[in-house]
Amino acid sequence: MKDIINILPENVANQIAAGEVVQRPASVVKELLENSIDAKATEIKVLVKDAGKTIIQIIDNGIGMSKRDASICFDRHTTSKISNAKDLFNIKTKGFRGEALASIAAISHVNLISKQHGIELATEISMHGSELKSNKSTVSEAGTKISVKNIFFNIPARRNFLKSNNVEFRHVINEFIRVSLAHPEIKFIFFNDDEEIYNLPISNFKKRIINLYGSKTSEKLVPVSENTEILKIDGFVCKPKYSKKTRGEQFFFVNNRFVKSAYLNHAINSAFEGLIDPKYNPSYFLNLEVDPSFIDINIHPTKTEIKFEDEHSIYAILRASVKHSLGQYSISPVLDFDRDKSLDIPYDFNKKGVSKSVGIDINTNYNPFELSGSDQNYVKIDSFSEKMETLEFKSETNELKEFDFKELNSVANSNNPIQIKRKYIVNKTKSGLIIINQERAHQRILYEEFLKSFTLNKINSQKLLHPMEIEFSKVDIQILNSKKKIFNQFGLDFDLKGEKAIINAIPSFIDVTNLNKSFNDLIFNIQNDIPDSSFSESDLVSKIISKSMSIKNGKALQTKEQQYIINSLFACKETMICPFNKKTFVKIDFSEIENMFN
Ligand code: ADP
Ligand code: MG
Repeated sequence: MKDIINILPENVANQIAAGEVVQRPASVVKELLENSIDAKATEIKVLVKDAGKTIIQIIDNGIGMSKRDASICFDRHTTSKISNAKDLFNIKTKGFRGEALASIAAISHVNLISKQHGIELATEISMHGSELKSNKSTVSEAGTKISVKNIFFNIPARRNFLKSNNVEFRHVINEFIRVSLAHPEIKFIFFNDDEEIYNLPISNFKKRIINLYGSKTSEKLVPVSENTEILKIDGFVCKPKYSKKTRGEQFFFVNNRFVKSAYLNHAINSAFEGLIDPKYNPSYFLNLEVDPSFIDINIHPTKTEIKFEDEHSIYAILRASVKHSLGQYSISPVLDFDRDKSLDIPYDFNKKGVSKSVGIDINTNYNPFELSGSDQNYVKIDSFSEKMETLEFKSETNELKEFDFKELNSVANSNNPIQIKRKYIVNKTKSGLIIINQERAHQRILYEEFLKSFTLNKINSQKLLHPMEIEFSKVDIQILNSKKKIFNQFGLDFDLKGEKAIINAIPSFIDVTNLNKSFNDLIFNIQNDIPDSSFSESDLVSKIISKSMSIKNGKALQTKEQQYIINSLFACKETMICPFNKKTFVKIDFSEIENMFN
């Protein structure tokens, strides 16, 4: 019999093992940040280029490494954090397996410079895919500097598997936020492509939250504090009215480590029961302290799941203390003595009353189906419903591609659509009924409108009479900034100042009543790269804007608005599916209805 078992060469074994630790640039950022924290750094600088795909650099002022330690730290199972099995039951550091540096070095080009305090020379090591390239002495500050370049350079399949820069950057930022929130006692600086995104001074937990999420956050937070034998809780939940439809800021830190726990999240949701719409998610920033021996340490360190010994009690304590804080808050406004006035900013967007006092100029000559509107003759108008009145239905004059013309006429001429569940528009046709999904239909309408106008280079943009200010986080501002130029070509004109976007003009065929929400959706959709299948940037942007700015399911529509949706949908080139390949409407023939009664 032939022997068939091979011993894998070390570099292959390393690459395979690396897969567990390093999934994407964000994993490298997390591991390196944790190493700097374990090294007792009080200041950590992070620099990334191309969302970390080209380079990730972390510089700390921690204890540094000796020449010998620096020389072996890239080997597997080399750690200074435990020395025997007993230590496993009292882990105080973030790492202890000695895997991260070996894994990172296996799949990238690494340069390490490290010096202990009070030692004259630093050690500089270069590694290319687990292979030592150089090891020499050099001059440097005390602490450690690590550059990780060209992640997955030797595993093309994994490199190709990385998502767009927007998506990878979001992952990197998420890791950075998780680590920096857990350590307000450390100063963090974050640079993205040479631009400083965060500069977080040493502070307390509350100020760290505010430094990350903007000065307005201060008034949203309700303190939660509890101290029992098995669990200590300290942190904040956001007031119910600031709950978000998309999963907002939800952070549990257990013993200073970010964890995800559907079970604990459920405890918070149940504490908010009755205070928020069940479709909304509360935001929270909560530090939990438990005896390390009550936590299962065999959970893999790169995973964020956690197992507690006494899960039920932790759930109950958490739920009760959040409920208690919310109760106190609703009886009397929270007296916030910690409030730092210097963090307040001098304007209040809420007081501006968006839909009432902010008007838009609309061009009455503008016909969305002809693209020949002039820029003059504006009247002030400020709601979708009113605007619809000015958009006369011209669908009969449009050529139809996908739908039987007679069928369309019978739809378009029908004046009595019915809206059901604030989601579907039902209309009679010659041969039966059609049921339209209002949100998807409107996405299709806007998408074609944007693509058409962009292709013809005729974007009808309308200036807002009063530019509108919306506050965003620094990361959101950066995201908007990266797309500013292309959005501008789509009629979306805005300036970015500090943590504010000042909206000057918007495309003429979008709803202005809820721009704040539309812009938040816009950022969410850019980050989530919806959809991946776009064939050009203009197509992608058309999809993003149409998804963000469309009227949503759940909105009650007036008859005129329903008619507008029906007529505009059937004037589209593609009527059957939304830009994301989902059905916009279904048809039920009378014969089918007849059959149902048989
Ligand atoms: P672990 O963190 O599990 O010990 P790593 O592979 O992440 O394993 O790191 C290996 C060792 O290298 C650490 O135990 C530590 O002694 C040393 N090290 C890594 N990063 C730093 C740093 N930034 N400063 C000082 N020492 C470091
Ligand atoms: Mg480590």
